[in-house]
Amino acid sequence: MNFAFVSGDPALDLAGTVGSRRDGPVDLLAAPADLERWVAACEGLPDRVAADPAGFASALSLREAVYRLALDRVHGRPFDPGSLAIVNGTAAVPTLSVELGDAGLCVSGDLPAVLSHLARSAAAVLADPHACLKECGRSGCTRVYLDRSRGARRTWCGMDACGNRVKAAAYRARRRASTAAGNRVPGGTA
Ligand SMILES: [Zn+2]
Repeated sequence: MNFAFVSGDPALDLAGTVGSRRDGPVDLLAAPADLERWVAACEGLPDRVAADPAGFASALSLREAVYRLALDRVHGRPFDPGSLAIVNGTAAVPTLSVELGDAGLCVSGDLPAVLSHLARSAAAVLADPHACLKECGRSGCTRVYLDRSRGARRTWCGMDACGNRVKAAAYRARRRASTAAGNRVPGGTA
């Protein structure tokens, strides 16, 4: 299963590792090894971190806290205190270290440092009054993303993941409608 990094923020991408949250959640992080793969795939995080069961549990609890707070922002309601405590507590831990060299940026740190980085990133987004957080317009996706487009006109979390599916569904619906209005093909099922 491929991870999607379309939310505009790594912490929101972490929250997006559970899809279809309302009807039949799909969790892409089933085991510590999945988290290790996710960290390796996420830009700006170390290539290799070891996730033990306790670290994995912390990551999942941070993930759910970030999702809850992001949803609070989307709905314009006060932040959930328990989730705030998780994000703030995680952000209080020393974070990743970065080193610039001719080969680029070398990012290093262990899993707690990674989670601290993600918590700080979430805090920065959630504190920004100009950050436009939205839930994806494809019903059932439930991913929350940061809309950085001009005029904040994005409707879907990412075109590949959702926009094309919505457009294809609308196209099929129009075709069905025009087929129903026109001559039916004998024996046709469309
Ligand atoms: Zn989506």
